[in-house]
Amino acid sequence: MDPIKQVKQLAQFGFSLAASQFGEHNRSSSDAKLWVLMYHRILPKNDSRFALEEPGMVVTPEVFAMHLREAKKLFELVSLSDWLSKADSGQALPAKACAITFDDGWLDNYQYALPILEQQQVPATLFAVADKIGTSFRFWPNIVSELVALKSVALLNHPILSEAAKLIDLPYSLEQVANCIAQLKAYSEDELFSALEAIGWSTELADTPPALMDWSQLAAMHTSGLVEIGSHTSSHRRLSNGSSDAVFDYEIAKSRTHLEQQLGQPTPLFCFPNGDYNCEVLQRVQQTYTAAVTTQRGINRLKTLQPHELLRISLHNDVSDTPLKFRARLSGWR
Ligand SMILES: [Zn+2]
Repeated sequence: MDPIKQVKQLAQFGFSLAASQFGEHNRSSSDAKLWVLMYHRILPKNDSRFALEEPGMVVTPEVFAMHLREAKKLFELVSLSDWLSKADSGQALPAKACAITFDDGWLDNYQYALPILEQQQVPATLFAVADKIGTSFRFWPNIVSELVALKSVALLNHPILSEAAKLIDLPYSLEQVANCIAQLKAYSEDELFSALEAIGWSTELADTPPALMDWSQLAAMHTSGLVEIGSHTSSHRRLSNGSSDAVFDYEIAKSRTHLEQQLGQPTPLFCFPNGDYNCEVLQRVQQTYTAAVTTQRGINRLKTLQPHELLRISLHNDVSDTPLKFRARLSGWR
């Protein structure tokens, strides 16, 4: 092996070892702390949906089950809304608590995460995209990834998609697709979806089974008694770039009433799509919800708690597929 690569791997291992041993998860403190773990998709490696997904989005069922077992050794596993209501009313809290969250409402959460949550009796919060539940909606990054995999020359037909078009002539890695998706986030959802419509993406791609849960599956998550449902907006539009009052009402307020009407339960929690927000968005969310989760990395402390800007730790397979790497990820170290 290349000696530089070897030294890098050794340094990485040393860092993980130190972080897993000496991070905040292993220290005692008088201030109550809350770790909020962020998951997206739970998919086995041999599932066809795994092959095209961004590496930063997926954890396998085996790794997810390992995370829960390890987390139980370190923390009290709590429901996010329970912990928040105890914090709000000044009740006693565990020194180190941990809440599990899932973003987007993927069908695989119902298929693979729910049985593991039930088996290990762990509560969780799932943030669903209200108007996309039970539809054939595909998120634009998945559409782009599938078009690249198909080497679709249609990508050449729109300037916004030129970064993705560059990959179709090359042997490429999923990391390169993820970088391309990160660059495309410079454009709004409206711009991206109209570019994809303009190149006729739906005629390029075969129909696939729905990627998201339907209402009955979402209700089953809830009636398990373990999973609370929060809002992840109505359409998954990122909210920080110049949205109108009507858009805020639709995405922030309507998504809450829609979920509450369908599920017959209060929905006091919100999750910002892509973690994007500004002062105006934050104000709207504060008016409508008890609390909200971001994608900013960190550990929440009771003394400095910002309930509408909760920090989270994102988990995916390549950064957490061993107990050592998982503990290092929880350390609070960069
Ligand atoms: Zn999302």
